[in-house]
Amino acid sequence: MDCLFCSIIKGDIPSTKVYEDETVYAFKDINPMAPVHVLIIPKVHLSSINDVTPENSAVIAHIYEVAAKLAKELGICESGYRVVSNCGKDAGQTVFHLHFHLLGGKALKVEMC
Ligand code: 5GP
Ligand code: ZN
Repeated sequence: MDCLFCSIIKGDIPSTKVYEDETVYAFKDINPMAPVHVLIIPKVHLSSINDVTPENSAVIAHIYEVAAKLAKELGICESGYRVVSNCGKDAGQTVFHLHFHLLGGKALKVEMC
């Protein structure tokens, strides 16, 4: 399967790694929208939130644990941050390997839609 983020996990495409464990990989976004902009992804290929099921949802909870840990390490846990996952066309998803944007380091625009 041809997937950009699977290739990044494998190391076939370079990335700036921020965190890695058995089930999760986190790396800097190539086009940062904020001083802190990290992508946190499951190592298993899921295309989007649409693929989350009772069988694989534990990794999503773990991604939020990793987000909290990275927010502390990157110094934004007190100032605040946002964790976002775009799903599908109307949300502007461009890479179809499930990912969570961790954004912070500035006052983020308060726009839900
Ligand atoms: P989406 O628009 O699907 O929610 O987010 C995809 C994100 O992946 C974008 O913020 C984009 O900048 C980032 N991205 C796309 N290609 C690459 C890449 O090759 N390397 C890295 N580090 N980020 C990428
Ligand atoms: Zn993938």
